[in-house]
Amino acid sequence: MFNKVLIANRGEIALRIHRACREMGIKTVAIHSTADVDAMHVRMADESICVGPASATNSYLSIPNIISACEISGAEAIHPGYGFLSENARFVQVVEDHDITFIGPSAEHIQLMGDKITAKDTMKNLGVPCVPGSDGGVPTLEDAIRIGDEIGFPLIVKATAGGGGRGMKLAKTREDLETAFQTARSESKAAFGNDEVYLERYLQKPRHIEIQVFGDGKGNAVHFGERDCSLQRRHQKVLEEAPSPAMDHETRARIGQICADAVARIGYSGAGTIEFLYEDGEFYFIEMNTRLQVEHPVTEAVYGVDLVMEQLRVAAGLPMTVTQEDLVPNGHAIECRINAEKLPNFQPSPGKVNTYYAPGGLGVRMDSALYDGYSIPPHYDSLIGKLIVHGKDRNMAIARLDRALSELIVDGIETTTPLFHALLEEPDIQRGDYNIHWLEKWLDKNT
Ligand code: ADP
Repeated sequence: MFNKVLIANRGEIALRIHRACREMGIKTVAIHSTADVDAMHVRMADESICVGPASATNSYLSIPNIISACEISGAEAIHPGYGFLSENARFVQVVEDHDITFIGPSAEHIQLMGDKITAKDTMKNLGVPCVPGSDGGVPTLEDAIRIGDEIGFPLIVKATAGGGGRGMKLAKTREDLETAFQTARSESKAAFGNDEVYLERYLQKPRHIEIQVFGDGKGNAVHFGERDCSLQRRHQKVLEEAPSPAMDHETRARIGQICADAVARIGYSGAGTIEFLYEDGEFYFIEMNTRLQVEHPVTEAVYGVDLVMEQLRVAAGLPMTVTQEDLVPNGHAIECRINAEKLPNFQPSPGKVNTYYAPGGLGVRMDSALYDGYSIPPHYDSLIGKLIVHGKDRNMAIARLDRALSELIVDGIETTTPLFHALLEEPDIQRGDYNIHWLEKWLDKNT
């Protein structure tokens, strides 16, 4: 096992990784920007190194600075967390060229899945069901119209390099296609430096269901069932739960096995998530994320496994601690993403937190790097905490979530906590009867 790991991230996820390292007797090195000198991940780590100014481009995304921090501190491995450099194949290559271990899959697998067209092609060949759409990139508007007529409308124009909901445009009819095609291309060019797009049938009322997979890099893989992330705003997840209210054990075992087999066949190493839209009993692959996800704690709660520890083990060449037979889901877990944002418009609301009180008690986990008097810098993501509850069934989890939300105090800034209180009052949410469009429609009606 490693002696020292550098955590190339900040906020709650940096703390999350530190906790797993600490329990395994591994020393940690925090990196931080000048805006994060007082951050909790810096305080908790065994060592810390400043890697640049507030702007993420010159600090958390600076490959040379992070490699230097590794060399100065003598860290043998880097955990990237999520976001920042976690899915950057070039970074992984540079890390490996410096004889440092990247805690995650190979550069080759990140690249394969980072391009959505190649990812879809690969998955299709591995027997994973995909959304009907164009075979590969669509270079011109004329091609788009011809293929669009074949797929049928509504359809969605997607950037092959896309992520975070960007570079995705809906064309309800043939007449909308020109605008959708041109905007998706220019948005993608601006955000990702690549204007290649493809077409997919637009599903009208699917759920977003994703399968957590884990490969040992030696041709073995397991799955940890699904997470339901259908509650979304602007294609961004807001609340996640496991298991999905729409899934039975047989379906879970079937799709889970397809996913585990697919990643085993490519020799995948570490944690990954295969995302699907699920409609009328059918799964449609949309993309694979080659990292630990924000919502991984709901899976940890239900399966009783520390996914970060498994990542550390596999990266160090050790076997996983579990086999597929060991992985039996237990109870129900729900996660709320608490953002520093002002409702109803979700404007960022950084600033000083006067009082912070984290809910506790049985079945409650609060992953956050907040503390009394902490000033949330305006330069980064607005996620300030994840509240995760676990109960013996879904009703218990909901009751516990309601109770835990009522205990949470983040005084001094605006947060999205009231949204979750309101959502828990909704019969559809109580019944688990919602799809990916439910929240947008509810927000239109209620704000
Ligand atoms: P990103 O990488 O930008 O997050 P994804 O491909 O994962 O993009 O899609 C994000 C979300 O967009 C999905 O969870 C879903 O809500 C919506 N979406 C994507 N593809 C389709 C589709 N073919 N039909 C309907 N909605 C879609």
